[in-house]
Amino acid sequence: MNTVVSLRARLQGKDFVEKNPTTVTVNTRRKLTGGEIALAKIMFKDAIDYSKVEVIRGGLLSIPTRSKNAMTPFGSIHLPNEDYDKVKDFSQDQKATNKIWFIHEMAHVWQYQLGLNTAMRGIEIGIRGGYSDAKAYDYDLVCDDQGKKFQQFNFEQQAEIISHYFDAYHLPIQGHNYPVLHNKNVMQKFSLKNVLKEFLVNPSDKALLSQNYGGIYYNHEPKKY
Ligand SMILES: [Zn+2]
Repeated sequence: MNTVVSLRARLQGKDFVEKNPTTVTVNTRRKLTGGEIALAKIMFKDAIDYSKVEVIRGGLLSIPTRSKNAMTPFGSIHLPNEDYDKVKDFSQDQKATNKIWFIHEMAHVWQYQLGLNTAMRGIEIGIRGGYSDAKAYDYDLVCDDQGKKFQQFNFEQQAEIISHYFDAYHLPIQGHNYPVLHNKNVMQKFSLKNVLKEFLVNPSDKALLSQNYGGIYYNHEPKKY
């Protein structure tokens, strides 16, 4: 008898849950918004299948939440929990830096969808300390990297270059929350345009994917995947 009662109670509970999904459902992932797709299309045009991309709350051993960095290892963007909760739509966000961040992560989606193993590239840079003082991201179009082709940069530098071009040409200085970065990007906007000239014409070209595994930062070329 007890069993029947508890079973009925459970079934009633199930009904309640189904009629009131918000009482138990925690949204831990979402699709891109229409505004985010429009924003990304400025750079990536139709080279990305945007319907496959999700924004995910934390996940992956909680690395994004602990490190306060996003990760985009398999074509979806893992955000730290607090950023996932705060930013519902990057295209509507007031902070220019969040839009730049979004384009950086979408560059990893672009790399992944065109065939780059972004997870292994990230691990390779990580175990060699490339993330410890952000040296994996640095590039210098004026001196050290002058004349380099886009595919000669490592995968983090590629994402930086694309997001900095986006900042220089598509975000206004008015209300920018990081004017020092914006001014730097504007100062180098012709260099950015030059290194991206093939990408800007045809972002679907797989030959543009990074062929640099981080070797310029280490004493020897790291393992290739
Ligand atoms: Zn990155």
